[in-house]
Amino acid sequence: MSALALRTGAINLGQGFPDEDGPAEVLAEAQRAIAEGVNQYPPGIGYPILREAIAAHQERWYGIRLDPGREVLVTAGATEALAAALLALVDTGDEVVTFEPWYDAYAALVARAGGIHRTVPLRFPDWRPDPDELRRAVTDRTKIILLNAPHNPTGAVFDRATLELVVELAERHDAIIVTDEVYEHLVFDGPHTPLASLPGAFERTLTISSGGKTFNTTGWKIGWITGPAPLITAVLAVKQYLTFVNGAPFQPAIAVGLGLGDEVFAAMRDRMRGKRETLVAGLRAAGFDVARADAGYFAVADAAPLGGHDAVAFCRTLPERAGVVGVPVTAFVHPERRSEVGSLVRFAFCKRDEVLAEAASRLAGLG
Ligand code: PMP
Ligand code: GLN
Repeated sequence: MSALALRTGAINLGQGFPDEDGPAEVLAEAQRAIAEGVNQYPPGIGYPILREAIAAHQERWYGIRLDPGREVLVTAGATEALAAALLALVDTGDEVVTFEPWYDAYAALVARAGGIHRTVPLRFPDWRPDPDELRRAVTDRTKIILLNAPHNPTGAVFDRATLELVVELAERHDAIIVTDEVYEHLVFDGPHTPLASLPGAFERTLTISSGGKTFNTTGWKIGWITGPAPLITAVLAVKQYLTFVNGAPFQPAIAVGLGLGDEVFAAMRDRMRGKRETLVAGLRAAGFDVARADAGYFAVADAAPLGGHDAVAFCRTLPERAGVVGVPVTAFVHPERRSEVGSLVRFAFCKRDEVLAEAASRLAGLG
């Protein structure tokens, strides 16, 4: 869809990446680090300054205390953390449970690790998992419950009861929880509840996040994974032969970002909330049904009221008809589930206000 946007000159609300830079202090620190020679391999687990900043961040926001020497690992984005965790922990035939739709990398990584992907549907427009379906999906064959909270592509934030049920099921079936919380600072009606903060969770939970989403630096690929030392050691053993190390000068820069004041995080979240409002209002005015997007970069819209019963076909012609690109939600489900999400389209709102306003005015011509 990004290629289609480039080819047609349409506004790309498909792939989620911001088109504005984040905090100046963060950018300046990367430039300083490069100028001062922080350009060779960093330590495999990441520079101490970043690991300490990650540990301090988890304590400041969530009261989770980590040993930065053994319980924090820097990765090449959240993506490498996900890949290394799954490759480390999943043996052939082990089951991995996720919600469906899922962030696109999940199915591919589970397959690459030799796992079997079991899913629990989230249904438009509430995206609330049915607790009984979740209970049925997790069994003694489950090795990992792979949670994404807040959730891409739906923008869902799961309530505490859902998180508690995940922990309860993981305990009952001796599963490990891997939780991808890259949108932790973009929960519009916060606060964010990290799964690892729930009673009984920490010892069996790996938590993943990324500087990309919080500081508008998606191209830097500085992510991290935190959790109990034995699990982190297993993930590190895989990272060693995936990338070995990554992003030397960007590590101290993300450390600066993590140390910024609460008001900086709040301002970034509030700005993103405003963008969500602009896009959701534009989509509704154009005639889409739009689900609440409680967090993150994306809103999901039903194109059926506009005749878009087949979202793949709708998205293919949208650049021509309206000069806008979105992604059909069918990209984030198993082939046999496609009909259930057949008319849904994911649009990104992590774009400059004028870009969103222009997209809204182009979409208004659809009806
Ligand atoms: N998980 C989710 C839910 C995401 O939306 C993304 C970014 N698209 C990632 C992981 C990947 O993050 P990173 O760019 O840090 O690898
Ligand atoms: N967060 C983004 C998305 O879901 C970008 C990641 C990607 O393109 N792989 O669109």
